[in-house]
Amino acid sequence: MRQSRIVVVGSSNTDMVIHGSRLPRPGETLIGGRFLTAAGGKGANQAVGAARAGGKVSFIGRVGNDVFGKAALAGLRAAGIDVRGVRRDPVAPSGVALIMVAKDGENSIAVASGANARLTVADIQRCAAVIRRAAVLVMQLETPLVTVAAAATLASRAGVHVILNPAPARELSAALLKRISILTPNETEAEILTGINVTDDVAAARAAAKLRARGVQNVIITLGARGAFVVDASGERLVRGFKVKAVDTTAAGDMFNGALAVSLAEGKPLGHAVRFASAAAALSVTCAGAQPSAPSRSRIDAMLARHATR
Ligand code: ADP
Repeated sequence: MRQSRIVVVGSSNTDMVIHGSRLPRPGETLIGGRFLTAAGGKGANQAVGAARAGGKVSFIGRVGNDVFGKAALAGLRAAGIDVRGVRRDPVAPSGVALIMVAKDGENSIAVASGANARLTVADIQRCAAVIRRAAVLVMQLETPLVTVAAAATLASRAGVHVILNPAPARELSAALLKRISILTPNETEAEILTGINVTDDVAAARAAAKLRARGVQNVIITLGARGAFVVDASGERLVRGFKVKAVDTTAAGDMFNGALAVSLAEGKPLGHAVRFASAAAALSVTCAGAQPSAPSRSRIDAMLARHATR
């Protein structure tokens, strides 16, 4: 089932992570940490999530003309992703996230967006044919809003489903929201977008209704281990998460969005797609890292089959 195309427009970063006993204070040098690098960036994570879940994926973005960009592209290619829509920026460096993780799990993250911040409307237009032919376009907010809006307009005019994962959250115009088939905030992002503190299902329903009143067709508020609150034309419901032993919840939302796109591209109804996405996201939290935690299609199908027979 690899005939439908998914296009992801978004960010690619290199995560440089130091695990230490605690976070350093301002001005302090803390010795004794453990260092690792990992491919990250919400856009690239979602593209890899979709590809591993069985989608045929194209990625559109910008990386720098440096070793990080080269490695990021190699990683995407290795996942089977078409990267012809990625430009090597001649000036800006590749996006980098400096992440400190303390023993108790607390973290502190600084991101230099670099080339991601220079993705232009012209970059989107250059890939117009690919976007128009897609079944689903997936985006986040780590690239400039004007490019997100341009891609959403192009896709929605061509009848392509547009999934927007509004992360990191920022104010969105009604003009953009009207182009979105499915908006997928987590609880914090839903609160930033609506001013409603999503503490329970009633609040989630109110936040989703507010977003739908502004033009979004369907809203899925992800609720971590609890699952996802789905609101569409047929009503509202909680789709419960799968019970797993969580090891690292980094990029759970990214895996959810990538897998959601795959199921929708295969023509499945929203309820089915949310269950598929929940299974993929649950499997991803059982493994460490962002892109390395993306589960394969066979693992997702096996998880769904196990739970269907119970
Ligand atoms: P984000 O990673 O964007 O903050 P969430 O934390 O809401 O998003 O997680 C996204 C989805 O990942 C959830 O809707 C759920 O399906 C799945 N998920 C997250 N954490 C867990 C967990 N501990 N156990 C099972 N599934 C989880």
